[in-house]
Amino acid sequence: MSEPVETVEAEAGQPPLPVVAVVGRPNVGKSTLVNRILGRREAVVEDVPGVTRDRVAYDAEWAGQTFTLLDTGGWDPEGEGMAARITAQAEVAVVAADVVVFVVDSTVGATDADEAVVRVLRRAAKPVVLAANKVDNAASEAEAAALWNLGLGEPHPVSALHGRGSGDLLDAVLEALP
Ligand code: GDP
Ligand code: MG
Repeated sequence: MSEPVETVEAEAGQPPLPVVAVVGRPNVGKSTLVNRILGRREAVVEDVPGVTRDRVAYDAEWAGQTFTLLDTGGWDPEGEGMAARITAQAEVAVVAADVVVFVVDSTVGATDADEAVVRVLRRAAKPVVLAANKVDNAASEAEAAALWNLGLGEPHPVSALHGRGSGDLLDAVLEALP
């Protein structure tokens, strides 16, 4: 099991891995999704949101493709200037990323904070894969479809908690890699 690395820079002499950054507001399930992709419980998941450190990078692999997976977070959602911190964090992650996985809680729908992240993503002009999370069953898929309204293309319904849809999401991520 590899240790989280503190930076996304490649170590000397090794070719850089593509970077996939997972962004979104607190409590949408970013760290749960990171754990699902890693296939182990490693990223910090808490019912009390805001515990993930600002950025944590992991080595990940899907269908033979290795990449660096960047979990983001670390805000107190009740804290001062929370919305500004979310967008600032998204801006930093997007600079480092080759592909951005934007996670939205489909049971809540798009919030103002989500819309603010969308504006950051538009400016960055990096490939974005929209993950409509917490689609735990087929009955919830209509809620995911509502996220077409964000204008980021197809929402990929996924349940990070149960694994539903995560393979299709990862296929979309690999397709979006440069
Ligand atoms: P983060 O703040 O975006 O990193 O969110 P976390 O991964 O810490 O998850 C926040 C809460 O949402 C936790 O209680 C998770 O168990 C829950 N959660 C995450 N993914 C899902 C999902 O697919 N379905 C459901 N029902 N709950 C989820
Ligand atoms: Mg987290």
